[in-house]
Amino acid sequence: MWKIKINGIIQGVGFRPFIYRLAHQFKLNGYVHNTTSGVEIVISGDKKKFNHFIEKVRKNHPSGADIKDLQIDKIKTKNYNNFTIKESKRKKGFTLVSPDLAVCEDCAEELHNSKDSRYGYALINCTNCGPRYSIIQNLPYDRPMTSMKQFSMCSFCENEYNDPLNRRFHAQPVACPKCGPELRLLNSKFVSVKGDPIKKTIELLKKGKIIGIKGIGGFHIACNAQNDKAVLLLRKRKKRPRKPFAVMCYAEKLMEIVSVTSSQMKLLKSSQAPVLVLPKKEPDILSSVVAPYNPFLGVFLPYTPIHHLILSKYLPFLIMTSGNCQDEPIAKAEKDLEGLCDYYLTHNRAIINQNDDSIILPADKVNILARRSRGYVPLPIDLPVNTVPSLGVGAQLKLSFSLAKQKSLFLSPYLGNADNKKTMDFFSQTVDAYKRWFKIKPELVAADVHPDYFTTHFAKELRLPLVQIQHHFAHIVSVMAEYKLKEPVIGIAYDGTGYGPDGTIWGSEIMVADYTQYKRGFCLNDMPLPGGDASILHPLRIALAYLIQAGEDISVIKNISSMEKSIIEKQVENKFNIISTSSMGRLFDCVSALLGLIHEVTFEAEAAMRLEFSALKASSTRKRYPYSIEDNRIDIIPLLRALVKDIKNKTDINIIAQTFHNTIVFFTLDAVNKLNRLTNIKKVVLSGGVMQNRIIVNGLIRELERRGYEVFFPIQIPVNDGCISVGQVVAANVYSHSR
Ligand code: ZN
Ligand code: ZN
Ligand code: FE
Repeated sequence: MWKIKINGIIQGVGFRPFIYRLAHQFKLNGYVHNTTSGVEIVISGDKKKFNHFIEKVRKNHPSGADIKDLQIDKIKTKNYNNFTIKESKRKKGFTLVSPDLAVCEDCAEELHNSKDSRYGYALINCTNCGPRYSIIQNLPYDRPMTSMKQFSMCSFCENEYNDPLNRRFHAQPVACPKCGPELRLLNSKFVSVKGDPIKKTIELLKKGKIIGIKGIGGFHIACNAQNDKAVLLLRKRKKRPRKPFAVMCYAEKLMEIVSVTSSQMKLLKSSQAPVLVLPKKEPDILSSVVAPYNPFLGVFLPYTPIHHLILSKYLPFLIMTSGNCQDEPIAKAEKDLEGLCDYYLTHNRAIINQNDDSIILPADKVNILARRSRGYVPLPIDLPVNTVPSLGVGAQLKLSFSLAKQKSLFLSPYLGNADNKKTMDFFSQTVDAYKRWFKIKPELVAADVHPDYFTTHFAKELRLPLVQIQHHFAHIVSVMAEYKLKEPVIGIAYDGTGYGPDGTIWGSEIMVADYTQYKRGFCLNDMPLPGGDASILHPLRIALAYLIQAGEDISVIKNISSMEKSIIEKQVENKFNIISTSSMGRLFDCVSALLGLIHEVTFEAEAAMRLEFSALKASSTRKRYPYSIEDNRIDIIPLLRALVKDIKNKTDINIIAQTFHNTIVFFTLDAVNKLNRLTNIKKVVLSGGVMQNRIIVNGLIRELERRGYEVFFPIQIPVNDGCISVGQVVAANVYSHSR
């Protein structure tokens, strides 16, 4: 007689039916049940058959399942004369919650099969697909603990639910048109519109209307991506003049708008179904305002039955943008989108936990994870160190938190930017949900060293032991933790903003770090930021201040009034209302504005992106600008002077942009070599918002590897500030232990 305990992703993925079928196949008796810490199987029978059974469990488990740990104990119990699935039980430890899963092939087929009883049913799902994370109120994951509790199954669904050999056996959200949630189409005043909601929605989209569509983890705002007028109206309503929109279409249509490799297609078709940002194809058959000034386009495949029903060859390309106002959490109810949409396609299965679409930017050797949300949360991340129950609250932008205990860390979805009340409310609600599900009661809280971040205030109000971790150190530690690195590394954190202990804004750290401490090796020289962070939206002001600091001719800067010019000149001269910064992000902003690529920024990193895109247009050059490295500083004044000279000589702007990128890669390499000579360290870790620039990432990985460095780039954890809470928790725990 044996007791088998299995931990991992095993709830809501058809694991128990799989065990049931397997036990019957091997004629083994006993039972299986979900516990709050995973799945437990008690089994009796022939030893040989049992070993075979275990082998199959390990090898042939359902594709959505992921076994983290399988433990077998010999026990003495009564003999069983059959094998059953028992009701869920509560137990100590973690239960892992499955992420929301994209529609599986079987369900998609039934959806389009006119003979199937769920033909055209917009909420079809099974044990292999459908909502999980987003409908959970509490654990264990059983129907009464989800937003399906108000729907009682009809006899047809119940039979499937209770049939161990059916694909819907114990699929908690199982439903059909007779008994399940219903679609409704509402007008802008939230009044029901008569007629078939799907047919009507398609009609309206074709007419250029803007429609809020309830997805799995939140609402999208949809419109026809080939209709200029509709896209422009959407931009106006969302107050989003240029930030790119993502486009959803069928796999067969994808090749018409972007270049995609077979491995990228596989990722798009996975149950995570992320947004992939891929090179646009020429000629652009979509509206030119979908992703203006941008050679890339975010694309994804239909991942809920509703998407499958709306897309067709008559309406092949839809903008599907997160239903929210700028940087706020994604809406879970149509009322949250008031004023933004003409109509709302909604249903009565409540979204309890929002999670936005995940975003990946493929580069040469790595997939850059820009947003880790739907499909990935709330899967745990294994830590290299033991942690006391702790909470990391993150930074300010691209907010996420981490809740950890022992060697498991639960990273929240992307929550928005922490500069508005809605995000902070969502933040604390989600913290509460995670604490409840994973039974973690924090005894330690980790935050940024920035005194004025909302998250820092939140952390202080918890009245728990607080450890504040420097922003770029947190960036580097998050990657060390992902790769479970044991020895010190050279960390490169190229970033927009991060509070330095010296009161300046950091963001170009090339450091030597382990989990307990970091030493800043090199960074850019301090440059003046007129008006502090406010200048981020006005890169011309940054360019002007940098040139004044460099003692350069400012006449190359156009499009700025003489009044603004003289104000900034005085500011820099008198060091009045100036913050010093060594941020790499600001250097990109400065150069982008110098080249006349952008005057005003309308979304984060817009200036830097323009510079990257400009460089991509140039025919390849190996040219670099001069710089010098002395006294732990990379002096960028020579770079700026040479760049201004090129502008005056009317050198092709794209070539200047590429030369600039080359220079960044090579001075970084120089600095790393210098640190390597001092420390012998060969492991290099990359993180920070600038590491979303594909030219920089490809260049750094290529050049570092060529010189024998082992490069670690985050894959499971975002490279931008979405990683900060992970680094905070790990560093805070090691710091507390080492005291
Ligand atoms: Zn399915
Ligand atoms: Zn039913
Ligand atoms: Fe950062």
